[in-house]
Parts: sequence; structure tokens; C-alpha cells
Amino acid sequence: MSVAYNDPAQWHPRMPSPPSFTAKDVAEFQVLINDATGTRNGNPINKLAWAPDELRWFPYRMGSEPRGYTLPIFYYGNDSNGDKIAAPRWVLLERLEPEQYASTWEQGRYSVWDNSVWDWKGPCPTERYIELRVHAHHDGNCCPCHGYTCKCVGQLTHCWGLYLNPNSDLLDWVKKTIAASKADAEVKPTEDVRFFSAPQGQRDAISRVQQIEEKQESEAQKRREEVRNHFLRNPTSTSGLKRTKSGIYLLN
Ligand SMILES: [Zn+2]
Ligand SMILES: [Zn+2]
Repeated sequence: MSVAYNDPAQWHPRMPSPPSFTAKDVAEFQVLINDATGTRNGNPINKLAWAPDELRWFPYRMGSEPRGYTLPIFYYGNDSNGDKIAAPRWVLLERLEPEQYASTWEQGRYSVWDNSVWDWKGPCPTERYIELRVHAHHDGNCCPCHGYTCKCVGQLTHCWGLYLNPNSDLLDWVKKTIAASKADAEVKPTEDVRFFSAPQGQRDAISRVQQIEEKQESEAQKRREEVRNHFLRNPTSTSGLKRTKSGIYLLN
């Protein structure tokens, strides 16, 4: 394993996945995931992805040039040119069906901030995957945590841990989690959930707040509150929601 994947100073935009886990490995792993959790209309419900390839709408001020789908979902920081860098990690995504988000998409799309109207979400997508889990190892040095899960939730700095190839423990986690959610009567996968996310989503929302704060530090607190209010109505928020046994957030 190249040391670069564990050294954020060497991370760069659209960093490729390491040769230790090839495209063929990805395809084979995806088959195992599909065997465990199934597909819907031919699409995997849970998808293995390379985080730097996963991009979302870059919020933009109306009247300026839209930047489109260029914001890394798994945002780490900026390079010296100001280009966004994603953490070089394997991630699991979960598919949302249009029935779950299309009817309310426009509600949270625009709002006024900083005396301008912003488009936060872009046009309603025909398919949507949200972040479910980052695959990494924590050794007690990267952060206080040990093992696969970072529990430092709520801190503004997010620990991306150490690089790991997808492995059988990740597959076991998929099987356990999905089995639990299928047994969970509260989860109805084709209903409008409006708020549906994972801890990573919460951290990502905070990252986006930080990006906006780069622009004008003096009003940081006011903006944080405004943007937080935005995220309370946005699918990446988990505030004020009920968490089910399987770890999925639903409206109260
Ligand atoms: Zn860590
Ligand atoms: Zn941690």
C-alpha cells in the first residue's frame, strides 16, 4: 500500500484508487453486495464506490456561473489552487428511489443567504445515492477510536482513518445492517422519507458549512446558524429525527 493514501498532505483532487483493489475486484465485490442486499429495478441498493468519484451539486449563487456536480461528497479539504479534495477511501452508498425525494426536492432547493438567492441542490436527479459508510481503520493514533468506526461524531474535524481495501468485515456489516433494516417495520424504502441520512451525511453537512465560511470569516457564526437552518430541512441533516434500531433516520 502506497503511503500516500494515509498521508493527507499527498492527497489531491480525483485521486485514483490504489492498484491493490482493481476494477475487477470492485465488480466482484459488488456482486457479493447485491447477493446480500438485492437490487431494485436492476440497480444495486447498496453500492461500493471510490469516494473521489462521488460528486454532488456545488451550491451556487443565482446569477453566477453554476459549477454543477463538482463538490466531492466525501470532502476532505482544498489543494493550493482551491480545488476540492475527497478522502481517498472506499465507501458504501445507499440508493434512494425518486418516490422518496422527488416530491419535496424543490422545497429545499433555493433559499436566501448573504442577500442572494442560492441553488443548494440543483435539478432533481433521476437517481440518487447517499453516503452510508466510509471504509477505514482507526488505530488510536489517527483519532481516539480503534477499529472500523470513528465515534468522534459532532466534532468539526472528521477522521478518515487509515486506508483499507474492501474486505469481508465490510461485507458482514452490509449483511447485518440490511438484515436489521428489513426486519425493522419502520423502514419503508419507497416512501418519501425527506430526511434520510447517515452519520457521514451529518459530517458532510458540517464540511459544507466550513467551505462557505472560507469566504467571509467575520460573519461565520451568523452564517453557520443560517446554513444549519438550511440543513435542518435538507436530506443531509439528521437533527431532530428518530433513529431506528438499524441506524436509519426517519421523521418523527
Ligand atoms: Zn481515526
Ligand atoms: Zn474517531
